[in-house]
Parts: sequence; C-alpha cells; structure tokens
Amino acid sequence: MKRLIHVIFQVAALISLSGCATNPATGRKVFDYYSWDEEVKIGQQTLSVNEQQMHKSGVPVNRDTARVAQIQEIVHRITAVSDNPQLPYNVTLFQTNIVNAAAAPGGSMMVFQGLYDPKVGLVADNDEMAAVLGHEIAHVNCRHVTRQICIATSFGAATEVGAEILARKNHQQVAWALRGVFAAGTTLLIPAYGRHEEAEADHLGTLYMARAGYDPRAAVRIWKRAMEQAGGKHDSTSIFATHPSDKARYEALLRLLPDAMEEYRKTTGHYPPGYDPAHPAP
Ligand SMILES: [Zn+2]
Repeated sequence: MKRLIHVIFQVAALISLSGCATNPATGRKVFDYYSWDEEVKIGQQTLSVNEQQMHKSGVPVNRDTARVAQIQEIVHRITAVSDNPQLPYNVTLFQTNIVNAAAAPGGSMMVFQGLYDPKVGLVADNDEMAAVLGHEIAHVNCRHVTRQICIATSFGAATEVGAEILARKNHQQVAWALRGVFAAGTTLLIPAYGRHEEAEADHLGTLYMARAGYDPRAAVRIWKRAMEQAGGKHDSTSIFATHPSDKARYEALLRLLPDAMEEYRKTTGHYPPGYDPAHPAP
C-alpha cells in the first residue's frame, strides 16, 4: 500500500512538473517528461560521442571558415524564426564523404562534407542547404527523439526516470532512440525517426526556411532528387538511407508550396524570381 501511494505521488509529480509540451507542427499538446535543459544535455553528449568517434578514425572537424560561416548563417536565420529561438543551436562540419546532416536533441547539429559532393551529394546551393537544415531544426523543435522515448516507455518506466534524467538507465533509453550508423570504422549516433516524424519535419522545416527568406522550392527539389535516387545502393550513413523519400513525401511538399511561398513573401515582400502563384509546381 505504501509503495502504491509512493508511485501515485510520483505520477502526480511528473504530470504537474513536466507533463505537457506543445508540438509546434500541430499545435497540439504532447506528453514529454524531458525539460529543454535535459534535451540540450542529451544533445551535447551525443555530439561529444560522435566527435570522439570521428577523431578516433582520423576524421577532422572542417575548419574551412568560409564554408562554416555559410552554414552557421543558415542555421542562425532559420533558428531565429523557429518556435524555440532560445536554444543553444550549434553546428559542426565534419570533413568526411558521408552524405548526411543530423540534429541531436536540443539543437546540436552535424553536417558531413559529403552532402556538398557534386556527384553523390544532395545540396548544390544555400537554398537547398537551408531545406536540409530547416528539416533538422524542425526535428529539434518537435522534440522528436524524446517524444519517441516518452511514447514508447510505459508510464511505470517514466516514473522511474525521476530527476536523474541522465543516469545510466536513461542513457539506455536515449541510445534506443538513436540509430548507430557505421562510418569510417566508427559508430556514429544519429536520431532514428519514423515516417510520421519525417512528415512533420518536412512540413515545419519548409515553413521555417521560407520564413527565414530561403526559396522553399529548394525543399521540393532536393526531396524529389532523393526520391529519384531511392532504391539505389546507399550505405547506412547516407541521407538517402536515413531519410528515404517517396512519391507521397514529394507530393506533400508540393501541396505545401503555396503556404510556404506566403511565408517567404511575408518576410521578403515578394515571391522568389520566376514563381507564379497560379502555377506553384517548380
Ligand atoms: Zn528527418
């Protein structure tokens, strides 16, 4: 009986202290028992593990100041108009041929140089990079990693999390929501999302990039390109493997384009060159 009362108190405390967050993609309340501070800590730890792994295999952090400044500028502009501009967003560029970008909880992001590769990469200009980063920043704002943990763990397990959020037990839960991808003799941790989370990140990310003044047609363009490359041989680190694109995804982005263009127009005062609202398809 005493144990039962204890558990009831724990559950009540959890609900009152941390219970609900709002999902910016839907405006609906979602159950998430992590605080933003905890998300930031988890993200920083994930980034630190990945940096150590990369260092071990001889992959340096890219210090090309022009390229890094270009990426930081995109991150800065998009996060400023996101739902959580207060987060300590940061981006690290790794000098490796991996074709991908990823965001850990709380805003720690990684871009891999291969994304820019003219032959096998995905992005060719700033608008396209903004589309990829907008998508990643949307995952952060929707708190997709911790939401997955909260949905998947039983309520009973949730009560055991308590204040020791980064205790060993919880590390396992976080590790469960991250995918190990194998690159250059290392195992990198990147978040593993389902189709539903991907659709939310596409939607919100495209609105964010447009609101930041980047041409949202770039999002349609790159995910169409990804769709055309789907089914090919891609290793597990590739954005084509971690973000498989299909017709439904491309069509959803196409449907969103008129709304995204209005966001762009509100920011810049005009549509991007060559855009005709009567014929929105790029
Ligand atoms: Zn994604």
